[in-house]
Amino acid sequence: MISINMSVTYDFTGKVALITGSSGGIGAGIAVQLAQSGASVVVTGRNADKVAEVAKQCLNVSPKGIKPLEVLADVTKQEDLKRMVDQTIGRFGKLDIVVNNAGALFFGIITDHNFYNTYKNLMSVNLDSVVYLTHICVEYLEKTNGNIINISSIASKRTVRNTSAYCIAKSALDMFGQCMAAELGPKRIRVNTINVGYIPTGIYESSGVSRDSVETYTELYRQRLPVGREGRPIDVAQAVHFLASDHATFITGANLVIDGGDLAANTCMDNL
Ligand code: NDP
Repeated sequence: MISINMSVTYDFTGKVALITGSSGGIGAGIAVQLAQSGASVVVTGRNADKVAEVAKQCLNVSPKGIKPLEVLADVTKQEDLKRMVDQTIGRFGKLDIVVNNAGALFFGIITDHNFYNTYKNLMSVNLDSVVYLTHICVEYLEKTNGNIINISSIASKRTVRNTSAYCIAKSALDMFGQCMAAELGPKRIRVNTINVGYIPTGIYESSGVSRDSVETYTELYRQRLPVGREGRPIDVAQAVHFLASDHATFITGANLVIDGGDLAANTCMDNL
């Protein structure tokens, strides 16, 4: 169960939000947050049980009891993305907010025999899916003066050992967000990017990291981050909540770093 303790709420009544990869982790937090603020949400992922569980949480917090649309979809498949959008329009009649959150993390170095496949798979999940989904959503977002939020990483801003394909994909995603903010501005569509720091979600175990290593790493982060704690999905969800709202209509093309001060503190050079 995702617990939300909100002191600020924005009203999303009448808004329709599609969040990719909302069957778990950060995406689930975003879906619950927007549902709690009145939005009709589309919960998506590849795992039916996880999608259903998050949809139930969204329904439970929805002030008007709006039932989320559940869509099973693999974002690496164009036909799935097309079906996701068609079903959204079919069910709710419009689209106001797209959160490109689905992502995966694979490790590897350039000399690995399968590096190129790793790289292609990463680009497919983390970048190509966003480009295609944006392409097919523009016509609907233009009608609602909607907005797009891309979930990137601070791995776009510094190298991470054994993780070059992910760094490249997220770096390209940042530039895509900037390009789209410029290109879609005249259509009154805003596009913003969130650069997330370390948050101990399932993404690490899905990429082969053991639970023990995640726990050790999380403890390390508690010590090294200026804020003294690890990040949580709600930290990102609250930022999405603001950026997607009518309180942020002058914000487009922004990159918001949400990392507990990681970049600021840990790219700091020692003085002589
Ligand atoms: P999780 O692994 O916890 O969740 C990923 C979500 O994406 C799940 O809902 C999963 O659903 C879905 N997903 C993954 N691959 C696909 C696919 N091919 N098709 C459809 N859905 C897919 O990850 P996080 O919540 O941690 O990550 C969310 C985003 O945040 C990602 O873009 C990630 O790169 C970014 N990020 C995360 C950081 C972290 O430390 N956690 C740091 C920086 C950025 P299902 O399993 O049902 O398919």
